[in-house]
Amino acid sequence: MLPRYDPNDNEAGMKLLEDLTTNAHQVQQQVLEKILTQNVHTEYLSSFLNGHSNKKLFKEKVPVVNYEDIKPYIERIANGEPSEIISAQPITELLTSSGTSGGQPKMMPSTAEDLDRKTFFYNILMPVMNKYVDGLDQGKAMHLLFIKPEIITPSGLMARPVLTSYYKSNNFRNRPFNRFNVYTSPDEAILCPDNKQSMYCQLLCGLVQRDEVLRVGAVFASAFLRAIKCLEDYWRELCSNIRTGHVSDWITNPSCRNAVSLILSKPNSDLADLIEQECGSKSWEGIIKRVWPRTKYIEVIVTGSMAQYIPTLEFYSGGLPLVSTMYASSECYLGINFKPLSKPSDVSYTLLPNMAYFEFLHVEKNHEQVSEEIQCNTTISDKNCTQKEYKKEIMELVDLVDVKLGHYYELVITTFTGLYRYRVGDILMVTGFHNNAPQFRFVHRRNVVLSIDTDKTNEDDLFNAVTQAKRLLKPLGFLLTEYTSYVDTSSIPGHYVLFWELKMKGNNDLPELDHAIMEQCCSIVEDSLDYVYRRCRKKDNSIGPLEIRVVKHGTFDALMDFCVSQGSSVNQYKTPRCIKSEEAINILDARVVGRFFSKNVPFWESFRM
Ligand code: AMP
Repeated sequence: MLPRYDPNDNEAGMKLLEDLTTNAHQVQQQVLEKILTQNVHTEYLSSFLNGHSNKKLFKEKVPVVNYEDIKPYIERIANGEPSEIISAQPITELLTSSGTSGGQPKMMPSTAEDLDRKTFFYNILMPVMNKYVDGLDQGKAMHLLFIKPEIITPSGLMARPVLTSYYKSNNFRNRPFNRFNVYTSPDEAILCPDNKQSMYCQLLCGLVQRDEVLRVGAVFASAFLRAIKCLEDYWRELCSNIRTGHVSDWITNPSCRNAVSLILSKPNSDLADLIEQECGSKSWEGIIKRVWPRTKYIEVIVTGSMAQYIPTLEFYSGGLPLVSTMYASSECYLGINFKPLSKPSDVSYTLLPNMAYFEFLHVEKNHEQVSEEIQCNTTISDKNCTQKEYKKEIMELVDLVDVKLGHYYELVITTFTGLYRYRVGDILMVTGFHNNAPQFRFVHRRNVVLSIDTDKTNEDDLFNAVTQAKRLLKPLGFLLTEYTSYVDTSSIPGHYVLFWELKMKGNNDLPELDHAIMEQCCSIVEDSLDYVYRRCRKKDNSIGPLEIRVVKHGTFDALMDFCVSQGSSVNQYKTPRCIKSEEAINILDARVVGRFFSKNVPFWESFRM
């Protein structure tokens, strides 16, 4: 299923992509056939298919599932039962996703072969880039990559984020060109478990090699902006390291320190002067282009929730293209961008037909889930729903090559690693076709309202967290009458902002606000948000302290008036729990009477099984 070719041969790579997309239907059929024949005797599939690996039967009998449905199977594997519960190939590790379930990260199965699939995916990105940008082989890439904590499950399996798993693999170490030093970051700096040291060292290496850098980037826009912030905070120290040829003493991770010292090698005061001059200038507009003048583009994902960072990136980039090359998840790597230089708002991804078997649940244009109404037939736990309802659900699913232009779908995947008809939770819109393979714009993630880094907070999470916090107000006779939220990314790192309208029980007077209590409310909200939020906040420092802005009486009426003026129906009006419109935020901000920030870092520790 993974075609062999020389990753240095651009033409061969492009030809392969043409073949895959031209034969999208056939490849998808082969993928499903392979997955079924391989896994038909797993406990999971045999409970629906009784040992038959028939594709038609698969579509009739195997239910579309959410994580909660498969969680018991995953947990059994984590606790030491054999992989054959869901996968004929041994599950070699569990990949912790940024989605959470019951406060813990979701865990996706992975196999040894899956690493090769990811390697194929990464390698095939380069021929596409080379088609649009000349001369990338004449210099280096400053890709700022990081690892995150991992745990060992009771069965001895490693559970860790997908990128950590990949960066720690031999496939990554042996990636094409790595031995020719085409990346400015040494693997030792990427693999340094202390993110602060890792970031500092990678920036130092990128600065030292600035004349050779042709492209810069990180996986997501949020991480790249954190690197800019780190440069802002540390440029004097970085320059001093370059001037003296000595790495700061607080870089204590031995292998990281050694690798970086080798790159720093000798004092270079000319380079230090140059960087000091650029970083010392009053405005940082275009700083990337000024510090790394040969850079041709910035490679960061700026679609989906990352789109909020585009204006800030544009400010720093000096007009460089922002390139989103790929769409991937812990469950499976998904699609690539065939037109990497297109504007961020025009980016579409083509799902590679050999990565998994893809199906699509139709959703209404206003993104309300059509099939959500047919709840009972979508889960294993609801096997006793009527056949009629089940049929209806099946009819909602279409194959990759059958999606329609302009229509919205939720992605459902069947992977080589033990997920069958699994709802990823992403809503995609069909924007066109590359040969016979559809191209999709990423629209949004189902339910998510707030996201800064890899955190994904939905309305329920927010509601529950606010409910916990408002317990503190009750004994004081305060009532929280309305709330909404937005993510403030005007500074780095961004932070969640909640607007609260408070009044005294029995009248509309604004309560006298006690700073300590309000700050405690901020902390309780943070403590009540999920594992990934708290990790980003405590361990990764990629989210700043949560803020509550108390607004005066009548503010939410003004918000409603505004929403109605924009076309909301008065009858059906519901306070939006997350605000994106700048005008709406201004309406709320103009009525703020008190601002409070969380003073504590929320509790977080690597999860335990
Ligand atoms: P995780 O499972 O934590 O790796 O997160 C995967 C999710 O991140 C996907 O299901 C998407 O919701 C989101 N994501 C990944 N790549 C992109 C992209 N290129 N554009 C928008 N969202 C993305």
